[in-house]
Amino acid sequence: MKRITEPARDIDVVHETDVLVVGSGPGGLAAALGAARAGVDVSLVERFGCFGGNITAVGVEGFAWYRHEQTIDTEGVGREFEDRARAAGAATPEPQSDSHAIDAEGFKLVADNLVEEAGIHPMLHRSFAAPIMNGDEICGIITESKAGREAILAKRVIDASGDADVAFRAGAATKKTPVEEMQAASVMFSMTGVDKKKFMDAVKADPQTYKDWESGEWSVETTGKEDQMFSPFLRKPFEQAMDAGLIPASLSTISGTWGAVYDSGDLTYLNLVHLPECDGTDPASMTRNEIEGRRQAMLAVEALKRFQPGCSGAKLRNFGMTVGIRDTRKILAAYDMTETDVREQGRFEDSIGIFPEFIDGYGILILPTTGRYFQLPYRTLLPKGVKNLLVAGRATGGDKVSHAATRNMMCCTVTGQGAGVAAALSIKYGMDLASMDIVRLQAELVRQGVRLH
Ligand SMILES: Cc1cc2nc3c(=O)[nH]c(=O)nc-3n(C[C@H](O)[C@H](O)[C@H](O)COP(=O)(O)OP(=O)(O)OC[C@H]3O[C@@H](n4cnc5c(N)ncnc54)[C@H](O)[C@@H]3O)c2cc1C
Repeated sequence: MKRITEPARDIDVVHETDVLVVGSGPGGLAAALGAARAGVDVSLVERFGCFGGNITAVGVEGFAWYRHEQTIDTEGVGREFEDRARAAGAATPEPQSDSHAIDAEGFKLVADNLVEEAGIHPMLHRSFAAPIMNGDEICGIITESKAGREAILAKRVIDASGDADVAFRAGAATKKTPVEEMQAASVMFSMTGVDKKKFMDAVKADPQTYKDWESGEWSVETTGKEDQMFSPFLRKPFEQAMDAGLIPASLSTISGTWGAVYDSGDLTYLNLVHLPECDGTDPASMTRNEIEGRRQAMLAVEALKRFQPGCSGAKLRNFGMTVGIRDTRKILAAYDMTETDVREQGRFEDSIGIFPEFIDGYGILILPTTGRYFQLPYRTLLPKGVKNLLVAGRATGGDKVSHAATRNMMCCTVTGQGAGVAAALSIKYGMDLASMDIVRLQAELVRQGVRLH
């Protein structure tokens, strides 16, 4: 490949802050709120024009679809997201659980309000481009935007980019799932013009279960107790479309779940398109999959119109503003969580919060119907090799199966809030992130409403 040398240049320092959070998904938004509420200056950098990450940018609305009567759930800022969305009319009862689906559009405003009320400095439309390093300490970032390259200086940085962009470029130890093993990406979409009554009558007449997820090359490991439970799952209309020649036989992967159906005729969070081998850190791969994903989504829309009761007069409402990426880089942390931790109720002295025994990914589906839960250790946020940096959200340290649990949005709020509070306290009390005072950290988390044990 040809190479050029980019000339060095002076750039403006446009902002200085105590804690700088990069990325505003469930992890980053929670981190910014945790830090601000612990009493330091916080700035939140986001490449898109809204906060919320996958919730708002991709349209992932199933925030707590795992929750059932016996579930012992996370408490803290994640629950606040759900409650605030409900209070703002930006949530609706979720069909398979004891939770609310968050309205992706409405949550943009909820997030704006949370950021403003906490006094967080909002910095939308800036992409992280490079870390600013002093030896092995990160002391800020360079962003790229319509204004060109700009520098932001910070005492602590939290990488909540989902892809460990900051940690990777700063030289921290990271790993990336091999592309052929990555969880599939999805182009998410919503429809409008659905006859809710007819749609729901058909769902009730032929209720689908989690067992129905399994077919052909797809196998799903459950504990057995999940198998007969209701799932808002759709495959039959696509099989009919295949028989009718509308969908080619090679696209047997078109199937999946719907999220919410509204009186207004909106059918949202359609998670029906699965794109294997899409590398979310490779723009060429993402370009191919955006285009292929939209093509497949339109085949799904046509199939639903033809074969799903209630959808004949419906049409596409919108695609997510980006292809949804589930699986890329993770840090190698001071402690990498394990399959055993999430399957066997891991307990840690440095717990920053709990998450129920909910595992969804890499062919496993375990729902927290029994009250079992695990704790998340502070050390899973701590990258190796770079000082003043923490990682929150889906890029924290852990093996594959542990990520099938920790990647879930509510769990990302746990690592986010933990990272935010830790970064703030490390500034307030002059501590290195690696020698965090866990007693103080846990006390502040409890003060902020987090359940640790
Ligand atoms: C299609 C799909 C369906 C899913 N379904 C569910 C579900 O039903 N329930 C569930 O709990 N989880 C679900 N997940 C998983 C969940 O959405 C993610 O794991 C979770 O959102 C990760 O949170 P995060 O904060 O780490 O990252 P994200 O939500 O990805 O947020 C990262 C943020 O960082 C920003 N960013 C990235 N790079 C940069 C940069 N260089 N500069 C500036 N900003 C940057 C992004 O724009 C984004 O706003 C799903 C995921 C996908 C893709």
